[in-house]
Amino acid sequence: MVSKKRKVDAECRVFNEEWGVKYFFVETKDQKASCVICSKSVAVLKEYNIRRHYETKHLSTYSKFSGKLRSEKYESIKRGLETQRNLFTRKFAENESVTRTSYKIVHKMADRGKPFTDGNFIKACMMEAANDLCPEKADLFGNISLSTSSVVRRTEELGENIGLQIREKARNFLWYSLALDESTDLSSTSQLLVFIRGVNSDFQITEELASVCSMHGTTTGKDIFMEVQKTLQDYNLQWNQLRGVTVDGGKNMARGRKGLVGQIRTQLEDLQIPGALFIHCIIHKQALCGKDLDISCVLKPVVSAVNFIRGNALNHRQFQAFLEEIDSDFCDLPYYTAIIRDLKKHFFERFSDLDRTESDIILFQNPFDCNLDDVPVELQLELIDLQANDLLKEKHREGKLVEFYRCLPDPEFPKLKKFAAGMASVFGTTYVCEQTFSKMKYVKSTHRTRLTDDHLKAILLIGCSNSKPNIDDILKAKRQFHKSH
Ligand SMILES: [Zn+2]
Repeated sequence: MVSKKRKVDAECRVFNEEWGVKYFFVETKDQKASCVICSKSVAVLKEYNIRRHYETKHLSTYSKFSGKLRSEKYESIKRGLETQRNLFTRKFAENESVTRTSYKIVHKMADRGKPFTDGNFIKACMMEAANDLCPEKADLFGNISLSTSSVVRRTEELGENIGLQIREKARNFLWYSLALDESTDLSSTSQLLVFIRGVNSDFQITEELASVCSMHGTTTGKDIFMEVQKTLQDYNLQWNQLRGVTVDGGKNMARGRKGLVGQIRTQLEDLQIPGALFIHCIIHKQALCGKDLDISCVLKPVVSAVNFIRGNALNHRQFQAFLEEIDSDFCDLPYYTAIIRDLKKHFFERFSDLDRTESDIILFQNPFDCNLDDVPVELQLELIDLQANDLLKEKHREGKLVEFYRCLPDPEFPKLKKFAAGMASVFGTTYVCEQTFSKMKYVKSTHRTRLTDDHLKAILLIGCSNSKPNIDDILKAKRQFHKSH
């Protein structure tokens, strides 16, 4: 029996405890064995290999230890190694903590738009505090790297990480919409902001700054279109998933076939993709203050959409609830403010594709109270079923629009759900762009006009993102990089 077991052990290549004192070997975590004297490890757990190592390298020195002395010698070397290893592990963990802290501080700096050189100042402040309050830890604080070059590099890495996260989410978008605006910064570079708002099949909404395109040459509609196309490629977003485009600003954006909107329209037509909504944002300050806008056509459909929302308390409440649900910066129809009639005119003027927009909004808002004849044919059957369902009608009355659509059973209402997901992706305004331009102005203040385009982009991505950079992922990638180099 015994000999048989030995044989099995040998074949299974299991470390035999006897080899410890006998050959000064120890079993390692990865189920190999290493020599406690010289740390060399053997790849195959065979007594022959282990014995040969001991006999050729250490026998002459260690043969003099025998009996109790020998086992004591073995234990003491082993303990020494463990202490060393623990020390190493602790040191490694400490280094990682210090690096993680450095990333966290750089993240805060970028989030607030602080100059890279502020890292030195922050470090100096920390050292004052550490030296006074916990001098025993001053060394650790001293290792937190906040030199200008470290801050620059980490800002880049954090920005990249945010981009990766958005890309990851974009893979699951059913639909997405764009909000775009362009503005000239302090160094006379034209900066185009591209925000994406995507909805996945669970009606989870992701709204993020996707790109800051720095345009040094001309900024025609075509130029802007090329930048948009690059951004979509970067995030692997397809044209046939595009549900809405909300723009603002000058004629290179919205006017004519040559403007950005015209360019996107042509692109969609070429690809035979129907149905994206184009919205010209109404909140632009210049538009609000602008005089004598040429209102050549009275845009009745929007009037009726507005009347629809305003004319009935439930509709109005639902619209407000919808705005709240999508985290809109408005809690009600935005134009219904102090200036009324003129602004209203401008508002109407600034919608395009009005018939579509109107009927889509009405259908999305209140699928129980819309005229079936106005609804796209492919949705009609599902709508008939929906309108006959009292339970769902009750759910709709609760007022959370996105929540209502999320709850619709997939097998019965696949097309309606897909339609609603598309509508939920549309940007109501370009307010996100306005906000980001304010931030950009601060970041690129007169002291920092030499900030590179890439760094500006990284800072804005970090500062505007709803996602937090995943620092553990960055550290992991760093570890792997060091391992392979
Ligand atoms: Zn050895």
